[in-house]
Amino acid sequence: MAKSVFFFGDGQAEGDPKRRDVLGGKGAGLAEMTSLGLPVPPGFTIGTDVCIAASRTGAIPADVRADVDAALARLEKTMGARLGDAAAPLLVSVRSGARASMPGMMDTILNLGLNDAVAEGLAGKTGNPRFAYDAYRRFIAMHAGVALGVDKEHFDRALDDARGRVATSKGIDRTRLNAEELKRRVPDADIPAEELRDLVQAFKAIVKKATGKDFPSDPREQLWQAVGAVFASWNNHRAVVYRKMHDIPDDWGTACNVQAMVFGNLGETSATGVAFTRDPSTGEKKLYGEWLPNAQGEDVVAGIRTPLPLRTGDRGTKADESLEARMPEAYRELDRIATTLEKHFRDMQDLEFTIQNGKLFMLQCRGAKRAARAAVRVAVAMVGEGLVTKEEAVLRVDAGSIEQLLHPTFDPNAKKTLLARGLSASPGAASGHIVFSADEAERRAGQGKPVILVRVETSPEDIHGMKAARGILTARGGMTSHAAVVARGMGKPCVAGVSAVAVNYEAQTMTVTVYDEAGLPKQHVTLKKGDIISIDGGDGSVYADAVPTVMNVPGQEFEQLMAWADAQRTMEVRANADTPLDARTARAFGAEGIGLCRTEHMFFEEERIQAVREMILADDAAGRAAALAKLLPFQREDFVGIFREMRGLPVTVRLLDPPLHEFLPTEAKQLELLSKSMGVPVQKLAQRTKDLHEFNPMLGHRGVRLAITFPEIYAMQVQAILEAAVQLAGEGISVHPEIMIPLAITRAELERTRAIVDDVARAVTGKDGKPVAFSFGTMIELPRAALLAGELAQVAEFFSFGTNDLTQATLGLSRDDAGKFLPAYVESGILAKDPFVSIDQRGVGALVEMAAGYGRKQRPGLKLGVCGEHGGDPASIGFFQRAGLDYVSCSPFRVPIARLAAAQAALTVRGSSAGHGTA
Ligand code: ADP
Ligand code: MG
Ligand code: MG
Repeated sequence: MAKSVFFFGDGQAEGDPKRRDVLGGKGAGLAEMTSLGLPVPPGFTIGTDVCIAASRTGAIPADVRADVDAALARLEKTMGARLGDAAAPLLVSVRSGARASMPGMMDTILNLGLNDAVAEGLAGKTGNPRFAYDAYRRFIAMHAGVALGVDKEHFDRALDDARGRVATSKGIDRTRLNAEELKRRVPDADIPAEELRDLVQAFKAIVKKATGKDFPSDPREQLWQAVGAVFASWNNHRAVVYRKMHDIPDDWGTACNVQAMVFGNLGETSATGVAFTRDPSTGEKKLYGEWLPNAQGEDVVAGIRTPLPLRTGDRGTKADESLEARMPEAYRELDRIATTLEKHFRDMQDLEFTIQNGKLFMLQCRGAKRAARAAVRVAVAMVGEGLVTKEEAVLRVDAGSIEQLLHPTFDPNAKKTLLARGLSASPGAASGHIVFSADEAERRAGQGKPVILVRVETSPEDIHGMKAARGILTARGGMTSHAAVVARGMGKPCVAGVSAVAVNYEAQTMTVTVYDEAGLPKQHVTLKKGDIISIDGGDGSVYADAVPTVMNVPGQEFEQLMAWADAQRTMEVRANADTPLDARTARAFGAEGIGLCRTEHMFFEEERIQAVREMILADDAAGRAAALAKLLPFQREDFVGIFREMRGLPVTVRLLDPPLHEFLPTEAKQLELLSKSMGVPVQKLAQRTKDLHEFNPMLGHRGVRLAITFPEIYAMQVQAILEAAVQLAGEGISVHPEIMIPLAITRAELERTRAIVDDVARAVTGKDGKPVAFSFGTMIELPRAALLAGELAQVAEFFSFGTNDLTQATLGLSRDDAGKFLPAYVESGILAKDPFVSIDQRGVGALVEMAAGYGRKQRPGLKLGVCGEHGGDPASIGFFQRAGLDYVSCSPFRVPIARLAAAQAALTVRGSSAGHGTA
């Protein structure tokens, strides 16, 4: 294989930090920090291609093994210590790290290199047997869990037993404490060396019992097992689920970092922690994070102990709990490094560090995950600070995530019962039924119920439940706990560390200690599975029952970012809007027109449906004309309302599309009413209704086919549109309606409907006697229309791709029935994404490109747009940009997403055509 082992240490790194694809994000960060001269324990990175090779062949190639041996020898030399040498022991961590950050999804093993002799040696050398055996028991549990497949719970239970013995020896009555309370009374740091030494033996016995083999005492064997396990963790279930959710390709693989250990568990002058260079919830510019004295690695993020704030004054905790107060020098060093790294990477960083006997070491840096609100604020602030350009700022914010900013928050005026407060771990408001397990969350959400997942703490095994839940509440864990980080990534509301909540998994209840204003416990409220609560991840509140929500007003920074985005954008963004209210919302969100105004729902209102049914059931043209005459004034008012809201912006009106079938009377009472008003016997109407029944209405009598058989319907609609335009012209609002024919597959259909439209247009004139200006176009939503787009463009002046129907027809996949099997297709990877959410670029997309090409060849000025759901999906928008479309149209709420995504698409296309791709 090509070089695939890269050393870092002594201020130099062999790996190129730009090659995240090879080194993984963690390895690249370690290489970069080393090169910057920052304090990083030395080590080496085994590249991602080895992971792929190993997963293919089941073994690590021999030449890689030799390179690892050489790198290890170099590491031993640098450290003046050797793996397995009791006199000068080297311990290492073996850490996963993929190209894209996948927090906690894969595995890491710490303190590798320990056996009985080495532990004794380490105890002697440090004069700290408690530390040596603490490291040893952690190592066995981690290595056994990750590399040997032993259930972690066995070790937890043995640890709790040890805790119980310590409690008894301290005179604590442990019979009155549950496991959680016991953990609080006897934290890990209080378990003495002797207990830990016994625990190590107990752990080894657990391994022997579970695997039938002794725990490996040869450090080399340990190392190879660990490396193999880290590579294999790329394919563990939770990593696979996470990749699917975040569109990370399966063939990237993870790198494996072997790094000399530094110890945060050496005593009270040692510590471990995580830091963000800015607040990840709000984006405020200040060092933000958490730490734990005398602790190691995962302790901070695992939520085992509630960590302390880095800065004095954060979260209102006592001053002497902050790192700033307790270890001012290490804190200042961290702050300085944070600034250096942010400047260097020109992005907000998420840092992991350990302090060993007062000395700071950096263990990880990466671009920080942040809530949408923070992402916008940081991007805009960094332009002001001169760190990034406006274009970069636009590219920095995940377009899909800004939906969170536009979504409702709890009504500040609503009556609420506050139960408790926790940490505002991930913003957003959610109400739902309480569930206590991820599986239950998935099950109930699958039944369409909103759920709030309540856990003591979450772990990577809970991912599927977090995905299904509306929001997440944890009783423990801090701002950087697993729950908080993952929830922010998903854009889900999360309140973490609600210490007033005691969760009882057995009873499936949670008991909240409610405090009064003086901070004294007032009462205990016990809620059971299925009860409803509301959580506000923006301020950490937990409320009883469902709380009503109101619209959010995004801030000034958001407006700024959107203004920069609009300046970059080349595609227009319109909205799909059917009512004046929709139209107003759309304009407020920045829509530049209506790309799809559906007319069918207008037919369903009570006063109208009767007339619609009369029209459908009428025997002859005269009967239909009489019914349509009743509808005309209503239709005209509809369009007047919408056109007025849009103030001259373009409005594409789609003429009637759904199968007539959908309007038919279904109840006897309705038939009677009709019979009376039409003067036709019920019997006859019932028969006619039966005749109109369709087996496959979506492929039946709908769209333009209605106009071929009943031209009067479209004639009435066009008359309403043009008369509305005339009326508004009188008010000084000039309207240029775009009349759109659905479901066409032939030029002849368009010629026939064009003739209907022209007939009406001749009759409807403005005050000046001139006809109203309008344009005439068609939807492209069936494969034949795409294939023969050149012919359609002879008549149509614009195309609007109806990608919902086009997807349905191209894939032969009924949207209404696909729910039964489509998820299985996506889960198993047969389809990369749900094609109704994100356009099938290679299939449906090919038809779009083909139709665009044929259409423009026939009619160079042909206007091209999209009005399916895909018009609001960032990935699809990228595709439409490349396909050269003029606009996308989506639901009003997604308009800002589309504006940002279209700007990013334009910048990306420009960047790649200029020869340098944008990240
Ligand atoms: P993850 O990707 O899940 O964050 P890491 O590989 O970063 O896993 O390891 C988790 C934690 O273990 C780190 O944040 C750090 O605190 C600790 N750790 C890893 N390697 C070392 C090391 N060489 N010395 C001390 N602590 C380490
Ligand atoms: Mg980490
Ligand atoms: Mg359609």
